[in-house]
Amino acid sequence: MTFADFELNKQLLTAIEELGYEAPTPIQEKAIPAISAGHDILGIAQTGTGKTAAFLLPLLMKIKYAQGLHPRAIIFAPTRELAMQIDDNIKLLAAHTDIRHTVIYGGIGPKTQIMTIAKGIDILVATPGRFLDLYLRGDIILKEIKTMILDEADKMMDMGFMPQIRKILEVVPRKRQNLLFSATMPDKVVTLSEEFLEYPTRIEV
Ligand code: AMP
Repeated sequence: MTFADFELNKQLLTAIEELGYEAPTPIQEKAIPAISAGHDILGIAQTGTGKTAAFLLPLLMKIKYAQGLHPRAIIFAPTRELAMQIDDNIKLLAAHTDIRHTVIYGGIGPKTQIMTIAKGIDILVATPGRFLDLYLRGDIILKEIKTMILDEADKMMDMGFMPQIRKILEVVPRKRQNLLFSATMPDKVVTLSEEFLEYPTRIEV
């Protein structure tokens, strides 16, 4: 299999080539078509398997280009480092598109993050706590959200983020595609996946 076998546009294929990815990894082979078909996904995969590109490539296909003011996709990660890594991956894969993205996390002042969001954004990467802070202040408008992704869900549960995720699920538009990735499936992640996903396709590598 090659990346050209997926329905990816030229801008993404160019970025993939520049990154030196020669062939899709197993999780990418399975997840990219299922996500592109619009299914909810339960992805069980460790870091290092290429899971980030597995969800970003179909997401970038869906987002296509800069549009409007409010984010159409939100990606949650448990830590600032993981959130930044995801945003770095978006930067590389979306290099030949005009898609606007940013990452928000706690531990620093929110001013610059608020200003970036206000200028207009397509994809928002966030840690749950900072996301709720800015949402409750009115700085994030969720009405255009069509995709929600939880990455490293097991780590999120270990860090006690279940209450925050439940609050987020109450305020995000209901009609959306949901993707959950986790390295392991302890009970708490099973519960989370039942609350978050609808008829998910389960992908394991
Ligand atoms: P991840 O599992 O998402 O943390 O990705 C692990 C590493 O694999 C990252 O450095 C990616 O840039 C890289 N990677 C992702 N997909 C591919 C691929 N198809 N071929 C080679 N490297 C890849």
